[in-house]
Amino acid sequence: MTTREKLSKYYVPAFGERSFVVSRGKGCWIYDEEGRKYLDFGAGIAVASIGHSNPNWIKAVERQARTLVHCSNLYCTKPQADLAESLVDKIGRGRVFICNSGTEANEALIKAARLYGAELAGGEGKKYRIVTAVDGFHGRTLGALAATAQKKIQKGFKPILKGFSYGKFNDAASFEKLMGDDVAAVLVEPVQGESGVTPAKPAFLRALKKMCKKHKALLLFDEVQCGFGRCGKFLASQRLGVSPDGVSMAKGLGGGFPIGAVWLSEKCASVMAPGTHGTTFGGNPLACAAALATLDELSSKNLAANAAEMGEYLAIGLERIARKFPGKIKLARGLGLMRAVLFQDKYSNAGVCAALRENGLILIPAGSNALRFLPPLNVGKTEIDAALKIFEKTMEEL
Ligand SMILES: *Cc1c(COP(=O)(O)O)cnc(C)c1O
Repeated sequence: MTTREKLSKYYVPAFGERSFVVSRGKGCWIYDEEGRKYLDFGAGIAVASIGHSNPNWIKAVERQARTLVHCSNLYCTKPQADLAESLVDKIGRGRVFICNSGTEANEALIKAARLYGAELAGGEGKKYRIVTAVDGFHGRTLGALAATAQKKIQKGFKPILKGFSYGKFNDAASFEKLMGDDVAAVLVEPVQGESGVTPAKPAFLRALKKMCKKHKALLLFDEVQCGFGRCGKFLASQRLGVSPDGVSMAKGLGGGFPIGAVWLSEKCASVMAPGTHGTTFGGNPLACAAALATLDELSSKNLAANAAEMGEYLAIGLERIARKFPGKIKLARGLGLMRAVLFQDKYSNAGVCAALRENGLILIPAGSNALRFLPPLNVGKTEIDAALKIFEKTMEEL
């Protein structure tokens, strides 16, 4: 049986029919079983932040694998301590909890918010509501999907966890209407990813911060996709100029190794007392070594600055192509190296994505009709030019 046949026979059909078999990766390129190469501007959904098979990352992970892979959170390990220190250093005074994925990071934020609300209100069940944004995406576990205001994600899982309300993204008035003293937190993505790359307006985030202060609620940012240099600063919210009380992280943080984390300000972290939360795998030395190597590569090569600069370069190219094909493309938008092109309704993003792949460019579908550009952060002009060329040619053929 081929790899694809085995997966269609033995894997749950949650991912549908998958298009091709990826056998290896190097830098901004991935290769299929026949050795055909593709320019990978999806980076495994914003995960391969320092490129595939990064030599410094490999060295660090190899060294840690030979030393100690896992020992649980019953004991201390140096990589965990170093990673916590490094994240606090980059984000601000506070504390860190390390888990294994984005959805888990958001579960930790939801639990922290509920504990915080209960402490403030002097008991459970009085201050627990969390306000999130329509078309946001926070993950697929039951808490995170309750925070995800999208019918297609929640469909089939009723009863949905109670205590969530949904405002309109970039519409501060719609959030204001939902605020009250029973609100424990507001949780939004500084740049909405899955729904088609919509950056928050700085004024919107500032208004949320003001509302949270007024109602003694926490301002929480889901930076799982937009963080770790992708938008031009370590956090997208740092670029947008608003600091939160808590942040969830995952995707690009481990450079491909599964890891998630939350950062909480001191006032918020103190509620996570012994016994309130835990994890077996989270923060194990191998995952932390991978994340440390990724963060080291980000800072030593100035990859956040590169993302800002290359993001501008990519944006100029995409806007030019959008103007050239107004009958096919509605618009291009984004921040840093998190970009999307929205297609006219008569085209399907899945169809365009397949045509681009045939021509050697990998992009990631988003929202109802967009494709995302999320290349590794060490991408250069040569690769961007090559990607734009394939994109333009495919638009001509469409
Ligand atoms: C991908 C994503 C998640 C979920 O992360 P997983 O690691 O898939 O659980 C949550 N929030 C945002 C913004 C994401 O992009």
